[in-house]
Amino acid sequence: MDHSSIEVIPATVVADPYQSALTQFDAAAERLGIEGAMRQYLRTNRRELSVSLAVRMDDGSTAIFGGCRVQHNNARGPCKGGIRFHPDVHLNEVRALAMWMTWKCAIANIPYGGGKGGVRVDYKKLSPTEMENLSRAYASAIGPIIGPDRDIPAPDVGTTPQVMAWIMDTYSREHGAWNPAVVTGKPVNISGTLGREAATGRGLQFVVEEAARDRGLALDGATVAVQGFGNAGQWSARLLAGQGCRVVAVSDTSGGIYNGRGLDLEAAVAHKLATNKVATFNDGDQISNDDLLTLDVDILVPAAFENQITAANAADVKAPLIAEAANGPTTPEADRILAEKGTFIVPDVLASGGGVVVSYFEWAQNRQGMFWDEEQVNTRLSQVMRTAFREVAALSEKEKVTMRDAALMLGISRVADAARLRGMHHA
Ligand code: NAD
Repeated sequence: MDHSSIEVIPATVVADPYQSALTQFDAAAERLGIEGAMRQYLRTNRRELSVSLAVRMDDGSTAIFGGCRVQHNNARGPCKGGIRFHPDVHLNEVRALAMWMTWKCAIANIPYGGGKGGVRVDYKKLSPTEMENLSRAYASAIGPIIGPDRDIPAPDVGTTPQVMAWIMDTYSREHGAWNPAVVTGKPVNISGTLGREAATGRGLQFVVEEAARDRGLALDGATVAVQGFGNAGQWSARLLAGQGCRVVAVSDTSGGIYNGRGLDLEAAVAHKLATNKVATFNDGDQISNDDLLTLDVDILVPAAFENQITAANAADVKAPLIAEAANGPTTPEADRILAEKGTFIVPDVLASGGGVVVSYFEWAQNRQGMFWDEEQVNTRLSQVMRTAFREVAALSEKEKVTMRDAALMLGISRVADAARLRGMHHA
């Protein structure tokens, strides 16, 4: 595969996530009565940088990788969003992810806009040295448009605290000074924050607690299926199990595993770490990712990729409560089918906000030269996530719209309001 261009949408992509993001935006903007230049301004990315990365490989050759950084909006503060290393990354995916970050930060009411970055690379095939060379090349290439007051990257699929350490170091070297606040999700020893690793799962746990309480669902004994077993999936599963839930199925790209009595999650995490394949974990029956999504469980947590719940399988999804840890797992067509069935969805822009909220705490600590203990991080995360959930639920009830529509209306109206206060010509 040619990794040198990020513009081409891979043939395997079932639906263009950017079209989904724009469809969702238009529906919310329509309800809010946002029109004309403001509508166009909110719909449009402020800046897109495509980069070509020449990376020295271990065999002495040079490989070229395509990448980008997209800044959707910064009316409420510097852009914020992760960096994805994946063979299927494409520009429209990153555009969608950047837009969703803008709304996510506004819904959580943290002072950031939205951005996202990507490199088209099969990172599993890189040695640690090649990974370092690629990370540093990307940091240099996007260096001119990032910074603690401009755009602050973080980990996403395929990137780790170690990658953030290389990015922070490259940026600091090139600016001649220690500059930890340029990225978040760093290792704790170099000005990362306690609580960041588990943050996305913990944030999801808090909103699931709120949703379950509203819906009269007891978490003790509730059955859960989690698609995707990386950072977001593993921590969502572990922390929901900590609330008494029975996590009966998990999956990754290798497939899934089902055990009706509940999986031994710590052993599953250890197996994934050792083999990188959760499907071979010997504690239940092997199932496919498609099977997992349609299991008869109380709570479904998509925590892998976009476009997993589509018009093709939405009618078969049985879980009455879906909490989206992944960005964009449900297409707009699937959303309509699920809404008609009465499925309650805690949408991505709300449910997966824990990561960026704790990233904000990390950035705030870095700028103050302070360290918070983990309890302080988790307590504040709980406050932010529960407040966001309550605000979205209240709007959903008032406007008689789904939680996704309400969340987007809340986020978009906050960004529009900031742009009205500042004007649309800000830096
Ligand atoms: P990760 O790289 O740590 O893990 C991704 C997992 O998904 C891996 O286990 C992979 O095998 C699995 N996977 C990939 N494609 C799959 C498929 N088609 N079916 C089943 N499993 C599949 O990534 P992550 O950070 O956990 O991110 C996962 C999702 O959560 C992404 O949508 C990401 O944008 C979102 N997210 C992550 C964070 C964060 O802080 N890490 C925050 C918010 C949202």
